[in-house]
Amino acid sequence: MRILITGGAGFIGSHLCDHFLAAGHEVICMDNLITGSVQNIAHIRDSRFSFIKHDVTNYIYVDGAIDYVLHFASPASPIDYLRLPIQTLKVGALGTHKALGLAKEKQARFLLASTSEVYGDPQIHPQPETYWGNVNPTGVRGVYDEAKRFAEALTMAYHRYHGLDTRIVRIFNTFGPRMRRDDGRAVPVFINQALRGEALTVFGDGRQTRSFGYITDLVRGIDALMQSDCNTPVNVGNPQEMTVQEMAEAIIELAQSSSQIVYRPLPQDDPRVRQPDIALAHERLRWEPEVDVRDALEKTISWFRQTV
Ligand code: NAD
Repeated sequence: MRILITGGAGFIGSHLCDHFLAAGHEVICMDNLITGSVQNIAHIRDSRFSFIKHDVTNYIYVDGAIDYVLHFASPASPIDYLRLPIQTLKVGALGTHKALGLAKEKQARFLLASTSEVYGDPQIHPQPETYWGNVNPTGVRGVYDEAKRFAEALTMAYHRYHGLDTRIVRIFNTFGPRMRRDDGRAVPVFINQALRGEALTVFGDGRQTRSFGYITDLVRGIDALMQSDCNTPVNVGNPQEMTVQEMAEAIIELAQSSSQIVYRPLPQDDPRVRQPDIALAHERLRWEPEVDVRDALEKTISWFRQTV
């Protein structure tokens, strides 16, 4: 197959490039490097791989047949989307439109990388796909959450109106090698602080919960979703819920660090809880996470140790 991955030079996108190349496919990585880096794909030496530097909010032209379009382009960490609010809205809206247009032209199967943030600060716990969410559209985080909600609606419209073969994955917090040290998400920030012996900065009292998954489990889930016939959104995440405080403590322990924990004010609209209901992924994809959070942390800490 010939597969186009938008956002392919980012954290998740670059692991997808590796995965689909290893599975024997041809991969075109398209990225404008706004939050990603060529470092993430620099190790790939394969004639079936190509990189196109392009902003997908503009018309996308690719020569020849394409079987899959995986649309991952978007700033993804709060630090990025708060600094890039218009680009975030544009890539969720215009970028998704252009990527869907390409998939339609090539009659390719399309996958949208959506997010658990479509659930906002949830009033139902854990969150099943049937929950419509509790998002503040005009709050600072609305630029990301609403862009993804619009992208989902547009994807379903292309599916229903144009008969496009689409998939939507709602990704819950995922971590692993190749995350940027300064990207502001809890796991890379804590690991970086722990390895440098700096205090870990926990927002609020640390009692808010998250469910952290590992990158290899996510990639397996995305592949399974592509191979399924499930057109409605599917949660992919690890239901092993923990508080942010527990995560900080686990990282200090596993990194054998002597860092302390300090507390900072909670950002606006920070979700209090987050946990995927993965019954649908289990039933339709036969998917469930395999990597334990502590093992995943050890692998990620060891990668950061080599790069810090
Ligand atoms: P990332 O920032 O590492 O990757 C995003 C990539 O998209 C970057 O390489 C960036 O340069 C590229 N990009 C952004 N705007 C673009 C544009 N207009 N044109 C071309 N390329 C553009 O982030 P990530 O964690 O790898 O996230 C990838 C996708 O997965 C995003 O769509 C994100 O919303 C989604 N997601 C990630 C998580 C997670 O926990 N990592 C959770 C939920 C959803």
